[in-house]
Amino acid sequence: MHRLLLAAPFLALAAPAHAATGEAVNPWVALAYLVAGVFFILALRGLSSPSTSRTGNRFGIIGMLIAVVTTLVTHDIANIAEIGIAIFLGGIIGFTIARRIAMTAMPELVAGFHSLVGLAAVLVGWAAYLNPSAFGLNLTPDHQMMVGFLPMISPISKVEMGLGIAIGAITFSGSVIAFAKLSGRMSGSPILLPARHVINLGTLLAIVVLTGLFALAGPKETLPLIIALTVLAFFIGFLLIIPIGGADMPVVVSMLNSYSGWAAAAMGFTLGNTAMIITGALVGSSGAILSYIMCRAMNRSFISVIAGGFGADDGGGGSGEAKEQRPYKQGSAADAAFMLEQAEKVIIIPGYGMAVAQAQHALREMADLLEEKGVEVKYAIHPVAGRMPGHMNVLLAEASVPYENVFELEDINSEFAQADVAFIIGANDVVNPAAKTDKSSPIYGMPVFDVDKAKQVFFIKRSMGGVGYAGVDNEVFYMDQTMMLLSDAKKMVEEIVKALD
Ligand code: NDP
Repeated sequence: MHRLLLAAPFLALAAPAHAATGEAVNPWVALAYLVAGVFFILALRGLSSPSTSRTGNRFGIIGMLIAVVTTLVTHDIANIAEIGIAIFLGGIIGFTIARRIAMTAMPELVAGFHSLVGLAAVLVGWAAYLNPSAFGLNLTPDHQMMVGFLPMISPISKVEMGLGIAIGAITFSGSVIAFAKLSGRMSGSPILLPARHVINLGTLLAIVVLTGLFALAGPKETLPLIIALTVLAFFIGFLLIIPIGGADMPVVVSMLNSYSGWAAAAMGFTLGNTAMIITGALVGSSGAILSYIMCRAMNRSFISVIAGGFGADDGGGGSGEAKEQRPYKQGSAADAAFMLEQAEKVIIIPGYGMAVAQAQHALREMADLLEEKGVEVKYAIHPVAGRMPGHMNVLLAEASVPYENVFELEDINSEFAQADVAFIIGANDVVNPAAKTDKSSPIYGMPVFDVDKAKQVFFIKRSMGGVGYAGVDNEVFYMDQTMMLLSDAKKMVEEIVKALD
């Protein structure tokens, strides 16, 4: 689902950044960009459902092709060979990464790509500042330039430049931290600095003031201002993301997606490129809407997350390990198969572990066998299950699970009371009752599945030592009606399928 959101600002930035010499006023160019914009809107619409997402993706590719080709053929390009080489190399790298990346590593890849969009925006802003003539932004006449006058840029162009650099730098450093957290190179727990709200607010204010001063300053005074602006923006991106952890990371990923769009849109203004403005605004606003939807689903305040873990509790944060050894019941595949056969209604809750094990096909086989035996089987999808929005939906669609059997949290949560079995496969945080009861928990407030209401709970995970993304122990392991099925998810489900057969 994220593919277009990734590709759009990236390519749109790349072409004009090399080629820009100002926007042609040719109405055909405007029309071509408009058509590209319509394709992007169709793409977003297509990507809103798994059944139409491939078509949506194709629309996105067509729109991007139109935008890039239009930019290349209608701009006065100094060195087409350089651009060709850059596109070729970038294309090869992108193609190789996309082919090789495991589905489970998609979120960090998304964060990594967002960081590149941010960096591109910073570089374009600096290029426009250092060589405004190449971007059609120099107001100093040629004869004055020849006698040593410095280039003069209009205040409005400098505001656009400042905004592009600031948003780009925030996106870059924020995405680098998100990448480190999502790939496990840095702890996923929130890192809370003392007085962080004052520091964040002060830094943001300083960036706004510096942008104003930069816009109004004469050509000789601008350099220290733009340097300070860039450094502070890199710094605030880092500060905004380090306090965010655990259950808030999904919102951060979509928020950074939104920032990368706004960075591209700001650069579109600097370059006078309508396609970039349209694409950036689409990515920016769709990312913002997604962040808002996820905040609502997670019971988080949008403003709190944007402000950098504003609501984070200093006592929160998991240890990464289950804290104490407590008694629990362990079962085998044969036990599980026997009880599943007796059930009338089974609700399956997939999570990140299903993606790691690639257990979706075996799971579908198990569900088919149960349905043949007259058992009602439903799938319950939490909005943040897995490691990216829509992660579980994509995997289940890949295994051809019928859409009508797949339910969102709010539509199915009341049904656990009538379920004979809650079948948890590689999920953890999304079924953790600490979200309802423990105010000091990093997932407190997030809505979770009421699996404790089901008559029987099967919990597939590899060991009792592993915890979920938020790093907190889970009371469900130790409930009377819970049977732990400790194994790799795919292996366990395959064994259950054998036993059912
Ligand atoms: P969790 O990360 O909470 O839990 C994953 C579970 O899967 C663990 O219990 C782990 O235990 C188990 N597991 C891992 N590998 C396997 C395997 N091969 N076989 C069987 N079990 C396995 O996953 P959830 O989906 O419940 O929750 C998602 C979490 O990720 C939330 O906290 C969410 O905020 C966060 N997140 C979500 C994003 C999104 O956009 N959806 C983005 C970023 C973060 P064990 O190691 O013992 O096997």
